[in-house]
Amino acid sequence: MSEVPKKQMAQVIEQKGGPCVYKEIDVPTPGPDEVLVNIKYSGVCHTDLHAMNGDWPLPVKMPLVGGHEGAGVVVARGELVDDIEIGDLAGIKWLNGSCLSCDFCMQSDESLCPKALLSGYTVDGTFQQYAIGKAAHVARIPKGTDLAAIAPVLCAGITVYKGIKEAGVRPGQTIAIVGAGGGLGSLALQYCKAMGIHAIGVDGGEEKEKLCMSMGATAFVDFTKSKNIVKDVQAKTNEGLGPHAVILLAVSEKPFQQAAEYVRPRGTVVCIGMPAGAYLKAPVFDTVVRMVRFQGSYVGNRQDTKEALDFFSRGLIKAPYKIVGLTELNDVYDKMKQGAIAGRYVVDTSK
Ligand code: NAD
Ligand code: ZN
Repeated sequence: MSEVPKKQMAQVIEQKGGPCVYKEIDVPTPGPDEVLVNIKYSGVCHTDLHAMNGDWPLPVKMPLVGGHEGAGVVVARGELVDDIEIGDLAGIKWLNGSCLSCDFCMQSDESLCPKALLSGYTVDGTFQQYAIGKAAHVARIPKGTDLAAIAPVLCAGITVYKGIKEAGVRPGQTIAIVGAGGGLGSLALQYCKAMGIHAIGVDGGEEKEKLCMSMGATAFVDFTKSKNIVKDVQAKTNEGLGPHAVILLAVSEKPFQQAAEYVRPRGTVVCIGMPAGAYLKAPVFDTVVRMVRFQGSYVGNRQDTKEALDFFSRGLIKAPYKIVGLTELNDVYDKMKQGAIAGRYVVDTSK
């Protein structure tokens, strides 16, 4: 452990609502079942902004180092860890740890574990140079991987990959991706393309339209211009029947109300985005006679992680990202609040 410094730079949220304060803090020491990862790059997820704003009915640690898309190098490990080596590449994701022995963990629904530890929410995350993760849960990243490019896969990629699985669609069928020009959305389009699923991107503005089409969307609907989202989405599908599934990634409530109307009968509405204080609302009659299914989807388990990363390693997932210094995190949040980010921002922890 000799090369691990005692101090490091981090972005610390000191009070609900922020901002982040760039300052020097102690380098943490891993416990017996943990590893210390020298984070090189971390993606900035909209969840990090929800955490800073205190948007959700789940208590958040304070002061807090946010971030949960951290890719780096293992520099220390606890005495119980023997399946990951110093020098290995690893990723710290939202699910920092879970008990591994409750009913949920035993059935590989680790995100439902009542004792789950959440990076950048209940434990300090990856907007620091050295972060801790439970060895059982850190993502194994193959040697030689571009750490900046894989960072967004660690939350956005895993989450949308899992959401597509939960949607139960087959190759050749159609999914509408709502919020398709954002961080999760751009990756969702790439996973759909890799799986042979038609994807209709729904988002706003020309920049996002361009991005969605370049990510492999079959069609695009601009929610800022559309006078009738339901008709416009259905019109992009085979015989106008509507998509087989809708994946909701948007950070506003309205699209959550619209999806049930345009999904195809027997289709699935998968909720992933979590706008503050939002509710699902759908007419009971239509839901019944159209046999619509509603499904929440929450990150992914360790196997989903392995599979989502494998798509990346095979060169199938290439979504745009912009690298900025860790010092610029507050500016990234400002852009995110305005919905002005096409794709993902990734922070370089050395700058
Ligand atoms: P982002 O800000 O990068 O993207 C959100 C996109 O939604 C933007 O492109 C925005 O233009 C678009 N949008 C806003 N209103 C819209 C509307 N009415 N119709 C269509 N598009 C609209 O955010 P992100 O990082 O991709 O995260 C998206 C959401 O997913 C957040 O709420 C985040 O907390 C959540 N999330 C959930 C999980 C999970 O496990 N369920 C995991 C990660 C993130
Ligand atoms: Zn996230």
